[in-house]
Amino acid sequence: MFKIHDIAEGVQKGQLRALAKAITLIESRNVDHSLAATALLDELLPRSGNSIRIGISGVPGVGKSTFIEALGLHLTGLGHRVAVLAVDPSSQLTGGSILGDKTRMELLSRDPNAFIRPSPSGSTLGGVARKTRETMLLCEAGGYDVVIVETVGVGQSEITVASMVDFFMLLQLPGAGDELQGIKKGVMEIADAILINKAEGDNRPRAELARQQYVNALHLIKPKSANWQVPALLCSALHGQGIDGAWQAVLAFRTAMMASGEFEKKRRLQAADWMWTLVMDDLKELFLRDRNVEALLGPVQEAVDAGLTTPSAAARRLLNAFKRGM
Ligand code: GDP
Repeated sequence: MFKIHDIAEGVQKGQLRALAKAITLIESRNVDHSLAATALLDELLPRSGNSIRIGISGVPGVGKSTFIEALGLHLTGLGHRVAVLAVDPSSQLTGGSILGDKTRMELLSRDPNAFIRPSPSGSTLGGVARKTRETMLLCEAGGYDVVIVETVGVGQSEITVASMVDFFMLLQLPGAGDELQGIKKGVMEIADAILINKAEGDNRPRAELARQQYVNALHLIKPKSANWQVPALLCSALHGQGIDGAWQAVLAFRTAMMASGEFEKKRRLQAADWMWTLVMDDLKELFLRDRNVEALLGPVQEAVDAGLTTPSAAARRLLNAFKRGM
């Protein structure tokens, strides 16, 4: 029915139509499609992994798409093939998107060595993330050696994207107390580099000041690796300044992490985490759809709300009901 092998071969040959078809299967909610997608991924998995995976985040308006376009064009100019994917958490709430609505990265989207895919839609962040992870593997099998995953600087999506990439880059604006917000949210702990964008003209002194504040703040955070000091860099995506500096930071990071063995180790841990996330998500779904649980859920929840039973006793009742149904 689906010529999985033909699609897999097309993907490996770098055929865009095959890649698009493969991604459609991955994004589909249809059960047959998802079985086909699993078979496809099994076939292509040995061909995946040969890229540097870069996560990029920042608040709306910080300049993510301008930066990714500049970086992407810089990289295709150096002979790389670049895939740009997105994890848009807004799709789960509104069906709309923060990242995808405007015409973005027009020049890059016309570059034959770049592939841009908007965020998949989904009912949960986990679902969106799963599709993006799998699309990333397809892109790698298709010969894209740099994969950029973009997300917005709100909520859990940054943590999710950081858990699927090798290098996580945080874009910030000069001044405006952003540095402190970053520290509060704990996002600085997951960053491998901080980039202060729009650091040109009148903004330059403020950007330099912000950079210094980040450098100071970074010294207070326990480093994720003894082999990497998180840099705070300046750039102006609009004027193409600091783009190569950001890329050099990615390369230096990769070299250091490969030398210490941390590169492979992180990928292995990410794969194991991912497996457990999928198991837990499916278990939760099974639990919530279980008939015994469904029947009890309302009354038990009400009893907890009313203080008539303890949460732990309530959890035990629900779990026992679930086990009975197995
Ligand atoms: P995103 O929402 O994070 O993707 O941000 P965009 O890339 O859409 O940029 C938001 C606005 O900031 C646009 O008007 C850009 O032209 C502008 N912008 C992006 N980078 C720079 C920069 O380096 N300097 C200045 N002055 N403006 C920039």
